[in-house]
Amino acid sequence: MATNGKIGVTTENIFPVIKKFLYSDHEIFLRELVANAVDATQKMKALAASGEYNAELGELAVRIELDEAAKTLKIVDNGIGMTAEEVDKYINQIAFSSAGEFLEKYKDQLSSIIGHFGLGFYSAFMVAEKVTIETLSWKDGAKAVKWTCDGSPEYQMEECEKAERGTVITLYIAEDEKEFAQKNRISSLLNKYCKFMPVPVIFGKEQEWKDGKYVDTDKDNVINKIEPLWARKPADLKDEDYKEFYKALYPMADEPLFHIHLNVDYPFNLTGILYFPKIKNNVEISRNKIQLYCNQMFVTDSVDNIVPDFLTLLHGVIDSPDIPLNVSRSYLQSDSNVKKISTYITKKVADRLDEIFRNERAQLEEKWDNLKLFIEFGMLSDDKFCDRAMKFCLLKNTENKYFSIEDYKKAIEGGQTDKDKKVVFLYATDTDAQYSFIEAAKNKGYDVLLMDCHLDSHFVNLLEAKLENVRFARVDSDSIDNLIPTEDKIRPELSESDQEDLTTMFKAVLPAGNEYNVHADNLGADAAPILITQSEFMRRYREMSALGGGMNFYGEMPEMYNITVNMENPLVEKIMGAKPAEKSEVEAFAKDNDALRQITDLALLANGMLKGKDLSDFIARSAKVVENAYLK
Ligand code: ADP
Repeated sequence: MATNGKIGVTTENIFPVIKKFLYSDHEIFLRELVANAVDATQKMKALAASGEYNAELGELAVRIELDEAAKTLKIVDNGIGMTAEEVDKYINQIAFSSAGEFLEKYKDQLSSIIGHFGLGFYSAFMVAEKVTIETLSWKDGAKAVKWTCDGSPEYQMEECEKAERGTVITLYIAEDEKEFAQKNRISSLLNKYCKFMPVPVIFGKEQEWKDGKYVDTDKDNVINKIEPLWARKPADLKDEDYKEFYKALYPMADEPLFHIHLNVDYPFNLTGILYFPKIKNNVEISRNKIQLYCNQMFVTDSVDNIVPDFLTLLHGVIDSPDIPLNVSRSYLQSDSNVKKISTYITKKVADRLDEIFRNERAQLEEKWDNLKLFIEFGMLSDDKFCDRAMKFCLLKNTENKYFSIEDYKKAIEGGQTDKDKKVVFLYATDTDAQYSFIEAAKNKGYDVLLMDCHLDSHFVNLLEAKLENVRFARVDSDSIDNLIPTEDKIRPELSESDQEDLTTMFKAVLPAGNEYNVHADNLGADAAPILITQSEFMRRYREMSALGGGMNFYGEMPEMYNITVNMENPLVEKIMGAKPAEKSEVEAFAKDNDALRQITDLALLANGMLKGKDLSDFIARSAKVVENAYLK
């Protein structure tokens, strides 16, 4: 006997609402329907396990059948099916989900019912103009029923012929959604959402290349062939298994550096495997992202509001039924479970790194250059992570040796503590450009760190804030004697007038456009006559403003350099001795003085600052100097 009725919702017509507002992504209808089908087969397993069902289970599976010409898509399962009463209760009285009731009854056997999606079944109407359900319940003596609805709130129910237990949902794909009647589209959706579902999901047959084209074999094409490794016990898995799984997830990516297996069931449920990928030395927005699953069903790969920013650089999967799914992003951030999950993951990542630091130090050093960006980003953005990471974060020196921060401080304390009792961490950002400064520091017995990562200028500030009595100084930020001053140095006393002349002279021969702070110093007769440096303070703030540290004021200022004139150098002594007494003549004297120009240009050259016409003048002048020395 057929019955007609109206779906039990108060709204006059629920479907336009579903279509427009419920899900912005129409494609998720397939996820919802396959999830229901998987659910139904899982429930069947539970009934068999509890002894309530004793007959043949058969091979539990979900099949997707597409007829491109007829534009129909079927989702076929051999799960528990529904009686007419159940269809009435679960489908007609929509928003009345049976998952809760069922879970209550079978909660001991059932660990994985996917039932968190509210109006799951009705999402079919986002893409279909008509939907039928043909279903036969597992219960003894049940009669098969067919439910038909064309998208209006009216439906029909009638008895039908159906021999096998389970449910067939047929979608008659709407004209404006016909992409969902295309094999490729369905295939890619199944691969996206159903790759790890716990029951075989089958779509057509596997194909083989034969006589110049692809033909179907008689083997079922199982979408979820790869085992969801995160659902297994870490103790049963080898390093190789994790690597293989990574490859299956991200076929194009380089081998990962380390993995973390997450597994917690209190106070929330979460499993997963996270990988530290190889990050190249620039902040690349990686295409391969963490994938979020809910009981092995793909939900999203945008986890921005679920894990802290720096962890979005990781790869892998997180599976948790406790993350609310179809809710707004802003809601996610305030959800207490999500907050706990985020804290938990951060802690686990720190735990794992700490363990690697303690037990696999050689490996950590070997992979450090690839990990560094990630860890510095984490330390800069997450206070708790930073406190943990101070222990396992490594520093690398210009000789490619690695140290923990604490060990490094201890190692250099003896030789690199200044008069204010601050331990000075010397660093270089470019071993080629700062070569002579690095050598000078090494000759003096100092150690020099290499800080050549994008975030290092921020990171140096962070370390100074975290470490007591430590100061960072770039090797080229002052003359070697002044980098780590051990006593108050006596600077040569120049009269005000001589100081004025000195400034006039050098400004006359230095490139225009920069600011110069010229001062006299005694660096010894053998040391270079002139040294050009950039103050640590100024350089750091410029760099930070370039990185967007909100200090634009410094970014817009001209470059500022310190010019240290070594008064003990014989060349300087001679030039100063020849300087005219008349102030108005000093500038012209400087401009004409080849020796002054030459020593200034040499200093500029050492800093990579001699360019264009100045460089070509320098070369011509140098040729003359050589000629004068040898030919005359
Ligand atoms: P939810 O999945 O959140 O419960 P749905 O609207 O997707 O909401 O489904 C409502 C109910 O209909 C399910 O809880 C289940 O009892 C029943 N149902 C849906 N699809 C099937 C199916 N393929 N086999 C058996 N029962 C189903």
